[in-house]
Amino acid sequence: MKASLIELHRTADERLQRDGQRYTANRRALIDALGGSDRPLSMPELLERSEGMAQSSAYRNLAILEEAGVVHRLVTSDDTARYELAEDLTGHHHHVICESCGSVLDIDAPPELEHGVHAFAESVAATHGFAVSHHRLDLVGTCAACAAART
Ligand SMILES: [Zn+2]
Ligand SMILES: [Zn+2]
Ligand SMILES: [Zn+2]
Repeated sequence: MKASLIELHRTADERLQRDGQRYTANRRALIDALGGSDRPLSMPELLERSEGMAQSSAYRNLAILEEAGVVHRLVTSDDTARYELAEDLTGHHHHVICESCGSVLDIDAPPELEHGVHAFAESVAATHGFAVSHHRLDLVGTCAACAAART
């Protein structure tokens, strides 16, 4: 379930306040950029969408938003960080990561797979006494553009 932009800003504001932080114009601009994208964004892509923002300010504000649980940072195979909204704000999903160019797509897994993972988590809990809170599953490989460039 995707939160509306208004709800998103309200939640971001609440979580920052909980951390003793203010929801500044730059932080709001970053959330607008992430909320308007259907895939995680790299720093250059974020700066493109947040006019006039200095990179140092973007890094600092993203760290604060990450700390507050509003933003999630993904580290992909090319070691370039990409940013998206925290999963509880956007809905559970998985990633397809290109190990050649580092591009990342958000994808939903089929229900059978989600059921399988939940059953697996329950068996891990039973066997190891480990309480599973959530899971991550990323598919890593070569994107269509990189595959085409190789031929
Ligand atoms: Zn690629
Ligand atoms: Zn994602
Ligand atoms: Zn899943």
